[in-house]
Amino acid sequence: MQPVDTLILGPVVVTMDAGERLLDPGGVAVRDGEIVAVGRRAELEGCDAAETVDATGQLLMPGLVNAHTHLGDSLFRSLVEELPLEAWLERLWISEREFVSRESVELGARLSLAEMIRGGTTCALDMFWFPESAADAAIEAGFRLVTGPIFFDFEGPDGVSSPDRVAIGERWLENYEDEPLITPCVQPHNQLTVSPEGLRAARDLADSARALFHTHCSETATEVQQTVERFGRTPVAHLDELGILDGPTVLAHCVHLTDDDIARLRSTGAAVLHNPLSNLKLGSGIAPIARLLEEGIPVALGTDGPVSSNDLDMWTAMRFAGLLQRGAHMDPVLTPAREVIRMATTVAADALGLGDRVGRLAEGYRADLILVDLARPHLTPMYDAYAHLVYAVGRDDVRSVMIDGRWVMRDRTLETIDEATVLNEMGELASRIEHHAASL
Ligand SMILES: [Zn+2]
Repeated sequence: MQPVDTLILGPVVVTMDAGERLLDPGGVAVRDGEIVAVGRRAELEGCDAAETVDATGQLLMPGLVNAHTHLGDSLFRSLVEELPLEAWLERLWISEREFVSRESVELGARLSLAEMIRGGTTCALDMFWFPESAADAAIEAGFRLVTGPIFFDFEGPDGVSSPDRVAIGERWLENYEDEPLITPCVQPHNQLTVSPEGLRAARDLADSARALFHTHCSETATEVQQTVERFGRTPVAHLDELGILDGPTVLAHCVHLTDDDIARLRSTGAAVLHNPLSNLKLGSGIAPIARLLEEGIPVALGTDGPVSSNDLDMWTAMRFAGLLQRGAHMDPVLTPAREVIRMATTVAADALGLGDRVGRLAEGYRADLILVDLARPHLTPMYDAYAHLVYAVGRDDVRSVMIDGRWVMRDRTLETIDEATVLNEMGELASRIEHHAASL
């Protein structure tokens, strides 16, 4: 084999590749940001490498993919709590109007990226105002981000009115076309805040740019009821009848679905983005994930934004995704641990249109990978790696993180984000946000 840049030797390797091979002890070789070999330790030993990492006692796996979040929400984490959903949103909205700007969103995104990298997340789907702020922060941090123009019928804190959103969206998509770490998507908020014409325009924009379509759908019973009252059909049926589900589509939440909704999801191939923590915390309900999996509908996992869930911890999201269906259905074999890991790796990458590049440790894939420290009391012994990852590993166990072949965290130190500065700047802004909130 030709010399490689990085050779990681000795960990338990959870590949999530086509055969879902588990290699113990295994190894991975990386050249020019690409995985060029995955195998047993003995097969890779002696390979000429610029850097060799002895990862004995650790577990190597694909970086986690957070399939639904709002990075800029970190500005307002825990600002508004203990209110019913409508009152909660109304109250949050006042602070958003006052403090959301291109600069503040970039700061919020940097903070969220630091949190995610620390927890082993290497790719996320973000929806927020000023998506260029999150994109720029991600490029700077070496983080893989799916994001893009948002659609709302009313004028948001970005000052853009609805008729201008298509033209602005087109320019946005052109600007980021050649950024290897940015995957474009078009994202209307939901079917109540965006008119049928707006949804159609967003779909057309996504299609012309060959981008993913991302929206919220059937999150709460109230939203479903209002949609039925206004349009005479459920949110999923509404999107389907508008032809929205005909191209690559991901739908966040899907908590309240009818049999007809599920049939439409199955026939169109739309993927569901499951956010168990946000659904529980906001009292939205429990999404029918076991049923969706049974029907063969792709389910990817997300955390939702830090105001609703309240952090970006994919390990907690995985644990809840696994536990919830079992408790709700009183069935201990639903959502097997390996299935939950797929929701946060392979299926998530596939749903976001990145399935040929990330989500698996396989030759030809980009090197998005994480090392988890196993030499810990709560992880010893380990008989079943998948059960460990879902039910015992926590984000502080993540030791090192590589994205696109570049170390972004090594031995718990962030390499691409000046964490102290971000925390400082956020502290200053937060005291202004809190002062303003207190004056209301
Ligand atoms: Zn959301």
